Amino acid sequence: MTAKPSASTPRCCVVGGGPAGMMLGLLLARAGVPLTVLEKHGDFLRDFRGDTVHPSTLAILDEIGLRETFDKLPQRRIDHLAGIVAGREQQIVDFRGLKPYDYLALVPQWDFLDMLADAGRELPAFDLRVRHQATGLIEEDGRIAGVRVKAPEGDYELRADLVVACDGRHSTLRESAGLKAREYGAPMDVLWFRMPRDESDPPDTFGIVDRGHMMVLLNRTDYWQVAFLVPKGSDAALRARSIDALRETVVQLAPFLADRKDAIEAWDKVKTLEVQVDRLPRWHAPGLLLIGDAAHAMSPIGGVGINMAIQDAVAAANALAGLLLNGGAIDESSLASIQRRREFPVKVVQRVQIAMQKRLISRVLEQSGEPPRVPALMRFLLGFRMVRHIPARLFGYGLRQEHVRTPAFPREL
Ligand SMILES: Cc1cc2nc3c(=O)[nH]c(=O)nc-3n(C[C@H](O)[C@H](O)[C@H](O)COP(=O)(O)OP(=O)(O)OC[C@H]3O[C@@H](n4cnc5c(N)ncnc54)[C@H](O)[C@@H]3O)c2cc1C
Repeated sequence: MTAKPSASTPRCCVVGGGPAGMMLGLLLARAGVPLTVLEKHGDFLRDFRGDTVHPSTLAILDEIGLRETFDKLPQRRIDHLAGIVAGREQQIVDFRGLKPYDYLALVPQWDFLDMLADAGRELPAFDLRVRHQATGLIEEDGRIAGVRVKAPEGDYELRADLVVACDGRHSTLRESAGLKAREYGAPMDVLWFRMPRDESDPPDTFGIVDRGHMMVLLNRTDYWQVAFLVPKGSDAALRARSIDALRETVVQLAPFLADRKDAIEAWDKVKTLEVQVDRLPRWHAPGLLLIGDAAHAMSPIGGVGINMAIQDAVAAANALAGLLLNGGAIDESSLASIQRRREFPVKVVQRVQIAMQKRLISRVLEQSGEPPRVPALMRFLLGFRMVRHIPARLFGYGLRQEHVRTPAFPREL
């Protein structure tokens, strides 16, 4: 194994080109920190990623001058989210009236990540290597000194003053560092498939909850991306049955899809996405920081995982850019300060997600026969004008909104 020759040794190696890694890479490179982002896939074209860009991320894009480019991406703007609960339409989240952004943008995540990658490629300090997979950490003198990389042109070692693991829920680096997350459990997994969309269909993304079943339809203009919730661990049993059983349930929940039910051709067109909620007690080790899902896997409830990952990236860039520019090893206390800043907002959102999983999703999926009900607290929050914005603000902006404090090299240095 050899060190891959490069124009300059990166000060920082970011592993994972998801929302956390791409935003961190862009912000640090923009501040002039030489860095490498490693992404194991060849592109960002994977449709199992969430699409939601919340107001907190819109604010970040404004702050780094990418808002205009973002607005040109294909997207749908949503100012409220509704659900059909036991046949009755219910308001779930209402962003109207929130300031300064009163909507959520639904953008295919591959377009969003491509935009960040394109912005990064314009910067001399940014080196994105796709099809380069980190396989483990290099440890020297009690600290992380880099990563081992598997690449099409051969395996190599990449050394850096700081490694940031943004490699998602099944983080290789987390395992390699021997860090163990606390598992909070999730009662569901998600079946993920497409259905064609007609002009006459309902216009918005919405959820449907009925006895024993829950489904979310994401409007991706010419098709519906369907997220169909199933009890955790039931995948094998479901797949042993005929695909007709799934088609029938989908039509029962959304009768307007009856004429297209055969679009769910076979089980191999249906992916199972595993849901997990966990959090590391310690998000760092000497020379290593973990952020995004690698530090805290988020439930899909509220569609906030992307935005939490981006908020982590902004906080990390704010804390680290100056230190990395100055050179020398990064003190672990600086890494601990990033965890201190981000842990509280993550904890609160995860607690709300876990409560929703227990009070709504578990009850619905247990098929108790009772018609499902929106939890009392949520009915209260949505029923009164004075408090209606609390869930929207929590999910839209989070509790400790981050702002970009890193300079844009070379103009502001
Ligand atoms: C079913 C489901 C639906 C969801 N829907 C939404 C939603 O609608 N909105 C939302 O905001 N959140 C949603 N989430 C959560 C969201 O997907 C995550 O919280 C978010 O993607 C985390 O971003 P990240 O950058 O930390 O990790 P990821 O998005 O997981 O990115 C990790 C990246 O690292 C790469 N990688 C992994 N290992 C390596 C390696 N060893 N070397 C190099 N590269 C590597 C991966 O290819 C990937 O590109 C959903 C989650 C689930 C399970």
